[in-house]
Amino acid sequence: VALPEVAPGERADLRLKVSETYTAAPVDVPVTVIRGVTAGPAAFVTGALHGDELNGVAVVHDLLYEVDLHDLAGTLVLVPVVNVLGVTARSRYLPDRRDLNRHFPGNPNGSAAARYADAVFRTVVEPCDFGIDLHTATVRRANAVQVRGDFRADARLARLARASGLPFVVQARRRRGSLRWAAQRRGIACLVFEGGEPLRFERSVVAMVLDGVLNVLAAAGMLPGRAARPPDHQVVCPGSRWLRAEVGGILDTKVRLGQHVTAGDELWSTINVFGRERNSVSAPTDGWVIGMTTLPMVQPGDPVLHLGLPAD
Ligand SMILES: [Zn+2]
Repeated sequence: VALPEVAPGERADLRLKVSETYTAAPVDVPVTVIRGVTAGPAAFVTGALHGDELNGVAVVHDLLYEVDLHDLAGTLVLVPVVNVLGVTARSRYLPDRRDLNRHFPGNPNGSAAARYADAVFRTVVEPCDFGIDLHTATVRRANAVQVRGDFRADARLARLARASGLPFVVQARRRRGSLRWAAQRRGIACLVFEGGEPLRFERSVVAMVLDGVLNVLAAAGMLPGRAARPPDHQVVCPGSRWLRAEVGGILDTKVRLGQHVTAGDELWSTINVFGRERNSVSAPTDGWVIGMTTLPMVQPGDPVLHLGLPAD
């Protein structure tokens, strides 16, 4: 698959038609292709594949200003908003409640979601050598800034993840139908960056993620002027697990996002409606708090904390 024709040293804003509305108006995904003066790899950076996950939109916009054509080696394919229908509805999903990130690589003759995914995959993902898909936590949750990927299978991917300089590198199995899964199956290395909460622009998160993207592009040789900066502090987690509430009630969380915990540390307690503490939960293992609920009320089984696990 060929990238849209953009000459060296030029950039182009394109509208990729992915569907049509009921009134037969085109549904377009905005795509910016930036081709550096020097030859090099091609990389995509995608935001808002889940329509309520907005921090990535700000990251891609910052990237549009940050990248100087004369410094760039290779081609960047930048998509601030993949799921334009979800963003319009302030929803993670497409209007038919399908999760676009379960329909890659898509199918030109399939469901609306499969056709949408197919157009994005062929135009944005397939022409690239690698890419970064930007996400946040899902609704009523927050994530520490982290990079996820299936590193066991791909040493190059692990190297790029480490080079991001992000504080957490978390091994995550590929979920069938995700953009990352479909890209990796075609031999296109794909990292997922996670950070913050949905439906917000969190400037501190955006700044960290932007820096991570630029570090990866530098490590791939696309920004020769940018010095590789080893991270001050980076934790590699070979796995992670969700800790769930055992009793219903009002949640009193004792730890912060990003914090290291030791087995036995108190993580949260649950207070009943009479104001009495009912249940105190301790860390079953050492780890780092890489995600947590932002809703201060829980029922049994609700996920409370996502713990990144240490190497053993
Ligand atoms: Zn997401």
